[in-house]
Amino acid sequence: MYAKSFIALDSHNRLIGARTAQTAPDDRYCCHLCGSAMRFHPDYQTERPWFEHRQNTLTAQGRECPYVQPDREERRYIKMLRRYVPDAHPIVRKADWFCLSCNTGYYGERYCLVCQTGEHSTEVMADL
Ligand SMILES: [Zn+2]
Ligand SMILES: [Zn+2]
Repeated sequence: MYAKSFIALDSHNRLIGARTAQTAPDDRYCCHLCGSAMRFHPDYQTERPWFEHRQNTLTAQGRECPYVQPDREERRYIKMLRRYVPDAHPIVRKADWFCLSCNTGYYGERYCLVCQTGEHSTEVMADL
């Protein structure tokens, strides 16, 4: 169960938003976190286009990517939701994280770009 991503890298290695991709399509997209190839899903009705990881072209880091492995609670929620909305997809939450392995703080998806995993990252609470 892959999560929806709303940004990707285009064939020139530039970050591109899904809405921009809809108006100016490129032929190749990959994940800004793990570098795996992505498929673009245009959406002309609700204007909420998105990118999805392709099943058979994951990079080695792809297995650690939060878009490939959304957190357990989100997956449980989507499973339930699919009874009513069959094409529901998980969304990856963005927050402030701190990686204990390399002592780096970052904002975004739970995925440390230095360590290429989110495994050692813990959420930084804003009200500390
Ligand atoms: Zn990825
Ligand atoms: Zn790290």
